[in-house]
Amino acid sequence: MTSKAKSKERPGWKDLPSGGFILEPGNATKYLTGDWRLMRPVWDAERCIDCLLCWLFCPDGAVLAEGGKIIGFDYDYCKGCGICAKECPPKVDAIKMIREDEALEEPLSA
Ligand code: SF4
Ligand code: SF4
Repeated sequence: MTSKAKSKERPGWKDLPSGGFILEPGNATKYLTGDWRLMRPVWDAERCIDCLLCWLFCPDGAVLAEGGKIIGFDYDYCKGCGICAKECPPKVDAIKMIREDEALEEPLSA
């Protein structure tokens, strides 16, 4: 292949999208940060006293609450940081962090 033909296949600089611009505002919801989670919070509804500390401190809004009560976790966006488990009062201890592969029905092979 000649260099002329090769350069025809490649986009020129005018064809490349601009860098550093948000071309589609509000697109953060498309990035499912749960994709790369290594640890998963597991919530024990029986132990939970609905203090909402986990909901308040979760940096991703991944703790779901309704009517002043925790109803679960949004694993599409939970990135497994463990802040919720740290903030849960020690006497209650309603959130355990487990390895993501332990949470899968068929654990990933090593
Ligand atoms: S592990 Fe982190 S991201 Fe996930 S629910 Fe807890 S605080 Fe939120
Ligand atoms: S921090 Fe613990 S006790 Fe408080 S709402 Fe969350 S899970 Fe329940």
